Amino acid sequence: MASTLFTQRHSPYKGKSVGAYSSFNLALHVGDDSEAVERNRFSLSRDVGPSVYMNQVHGNSVVIVDSHVIAQPTADALVTQEANVALVVLVADCIPLLLWDNKESCIAAAHVGRRGLTNGITSNVLEIMRIMGARDIQASIGPSICGACYEVGDDVFQEVVDLFPLAQCKSHRGGRSLDLSKALEAHLLADGVEVVARGGCTNEDENYFSYRRDGHTGRQAGVIWL
Ligand SMILES: [Zn+2]
Repeated sequence: MASTLFTQRHSPYKGKSVGAYSSFNLALHVGDDSEAVERNRFSLSRDVGPSVYMNQVHGNSVVIVDSHVIAQPTADALVTQEANVALVVLVADCIPLLLWDNKESCIAAAHVGRRGLTNGITSNVLEIMRIMGARDIQASIGPSICGACYEVGDDVFQEVVDLFPLAQCKSHRGGRSLDLSKALEAHLLADGVEVVARGGCTNEDENYFSYRRDGHTGRQAGVIWL
């Protein structure tokens, strides 16, 4: 059985980052003190083992992690069959999607934002997992900004809703908004994936970093390991 974890601002550890990044920020690219981030990453790795982070670019590239991958690959999803490595996706409103095969053939971590939903990153990951032998895939959709909080402009709204009608939502203020998490869940179910959990809203829950709420902020993680 794969193990999964979604970190929060102050959980499962009181982190070393301060100010806007307080306290368990795991991202090096957001302007935080890199020594504090490395100490936070070290705390996490003591529990989950050696971890692979991505240089996430809102693309649809999947990297297969084997014993040769040690650097930080540029990708928005990682897949592995290795039992001695944890896969990490960093987010602050985007969806951290964790996937595993019940027969333990492989696991995956994916970064699914608005662009990830529309550019097919999820289908790409599922295809690779199935090539690796996965027949019974389950998913956990981590905490992300909810439909009522994710108000967008008309062009963006239309672009997403044309592809994912279920993403259509109304914001707290009555504006056009997107429920990416709901659209992703429906997409996974239609592809034969069982969704076992869907997390709450990062914008409303101050236990999480939220880019929409805070702008200058840290990143929490979705982590999966065999
Ligand atoms: Zn919300």
